[in-house]
Amino acid sequence: MKTPSGYVDIDRLQAETTLEEAAAKCGVTLDAKGSGKEVRIDCPFGCQGDHAGRKELSINTENPQKVFLCHAYQCGFRGNLLTLMHGWLTGTKPTGGKLKGEEFRRVRNLLAGDGVVRDGSTGPKPAETADSPPPEPPHNVPLIDSPEERVRELHNIDKKFLTEPAAMNPAAAAYVRRHPCLSPASMQKWRCGYLPNDGGGDKRGWSLRGSIVYPVLSEEGKVLSWVARDVRYEQNEREWSRLSPAERVGKEPPAKHRFPKGFHRGVELFGQQASRLREPGYRQSIANHGIVVVEGFNDVIGLDNIGIPAVGVMSNRMTEAQGEKIATWAMRLASGRVTLMFDCEASGIEGAKDALWFFAEQGLDVRVAWTPSMHGGKFAGRQPETMIREEWESVIRPYISR
Ligand SMILES: [Zn+2]
Repeated sequence: MKTPSGYVDIDRLQAETTLEEAAAKCGVTLDAKGSGKEVRIDCPFGCQGDHAGRKELSINTENPQKVFLCHAYQCGFRGNLLTLMHGWLTGTKPTGGKLKGEEFRRVRNLLAGDGVVRDGSTGPKPAETADSPPPEPPHNVPLIDSPEERVRELHNIDKKFLTEPAAMNPAAAAYVRRHPCLSPASMQKWRCGYLPNDGGGDKRGWSLRGSIVYPVLSEEGKVLSWVARDVRYEQNEREWSRLSPAERVGKEPPAKHRFPKGFHRGVELFGQQASRLREPGYRQSIANHGIVVVEGFNDVIGLDNIGIPAVGVMSNRMTEAQGEKIATWAMRLASGRVTLMFDCEASGIEGAKDALWFFAEQGLDVRVAWTPSMHGGKFAGRQPETMIREEWESVIRPYISR
């Protein structure tokens, strides 16, 4: 195969190559529905949601890079013409979800060359040339699907949760009272609550006992993990801050949340379960405001209490994997709109700036709901969990609707 030497203008090549030509280079015949601006084809990325010729993958032919998105819920894969060619060649997504390294060079050379692939034998396969196989992208297995029984049996531990502050230990009750978004009703809806220390013979979840516990659900609604909020964190944090550097040696700083070992928080979002799209008004809200991104568990719950669907990054920093997920939903549900509502203080603004840059780079329509100086400084120091409906309706919503 001809290997172009020197600089290859990938953007120009993608712009100048028709879908038919690109498919032909990969040895496939284009079977497309529609013409003009949007063309739909069967998803070539081993897609479970696209079968029986549903043609779930749509390609924007007016875009120079011919960006595509698979609308099958469990897939949601997107990319440019080069990525699409990788799918036609291999029937799989690029390793790690992004086209790079040897896989990238393979399709680039194919696009730049005049050769046509036969029997998929173009160039060496990555596994044969790479020094070591690229790592599998991390993913979480729902508790109920775990091979280990002691993990499986945790899937419904929320049946033991208490949601009335009067029934909790004093620290947990104080925590719940400090967070009015945590009403018994909202805690039951969100499957969070207080796991008492005395299990009454039930020994499950000992490490969660005495804490307020939140579930991280998969998009299908299965529990991936329980996360314990240390209700004594604020007190421990104050004690820690009084220690001298010498006294801190060998000690761990207090942690607000305890995530189980091996759980990949950075690939999930709190509130990502697809069932939320069936709640009254939620699809419309997302279409109007974009995907609203917040930091924490309580922020998602607090906004949900006033009818606003949001997702939480479970940190004050969004990971790239979380950003990719949000970008896909934004494309599918909100015409590419994203609204950032991190905590309205210095730490939140830092995280929001990173996220803003990430979505802007992706060409999405992204904006911030608030900053300490916006809206006349009205929200400085606030967290989304404290938002009340009247403020949302009169200040935030008019600003972010578009
Ligand atoms: Zn797909």
